[in-house]
Amino acid sequence: MKKIIYDITPFTTLDYKDNLSCIVWFISCNMRCQYCYNTNIIECKDGNYEIKELFEFLEKRVGLLDAVVLSGGEATMHDLLPICKKIKSMGFKIKLDTNGTNKKIVNDLIEKNYLDFISLDFKATKQNFKSITNSKLYNNFYETLLYLISINFDFEVRTTLHEDLLDEKQLNEMIDTLYNAGYKNSFHIQNFLNVENYSNLTEAKNSINKDLLSDKLNILWRN
Ligand code: SF4
Repeated sequence: MKKIIYDITPFTTLDYKDNLSCIVWFISCNMRCQYCYNTNIIECKDGNYEIKELFEFLEKRVGLLDAVVLSGGEATMHDLLPICKKIKSMGFKIKLDTNGTNKKIVNDLIEKNYLDFISLDFKATKQNFKSITNSKLYNNFYETLLYLISINFDFEVRTTLHEDLLDEKQLNEMIDTLYNAGYKNSFHIQNFLNVENYSNLTEAKNSINKDLLSDKLNILWRN
């Protein structure tokens, strides 16, 4: 059996608000974001744990953890339906962290009532998307965004900000995109962490002026 899990963080209170969770780090990703600091995970062809080892871990955590966060890498690169079915049967909530490029899996998981919350990455404007993610998947992301809004699903949108890659104008374009699509929740912006990353980025030379950002959405800054 292929080992599609790179690692399991046994518990955290930080990743899924108000829920004591573990995090499952799935291998592989269909993007290569410049600032990605999970390079070992995205390039990994074979991880460290099989799914049955995750289930064995979770069986011992019933009653101790509230939720399981599916992260990576990009979790939707894998067949999450049977995995989520089993996790839900054990009574856990599920939060999915995703770059939004696999609307079909997201749709299937939601229709089965397997997902409780989603954190959706919004990497960049349409124009900047390829240079930041090394992928041509903007339209895939946008379809997922529209889908989640259309069904009024409980989700948050988040962006990693490296100030040499996104400026105020581009952030405002992204806010406009969300606003015009009907997104009403907060827009979470997390600052780039200067740790080992895919494109060997270092601290940004530019800095943005937060006063120039649109107030169409509530912006929540992380770190
Ligand atoms: S930051 Fe980009 S490349 Fe890294 S795991 Fe997330 S989507 Fe994939």
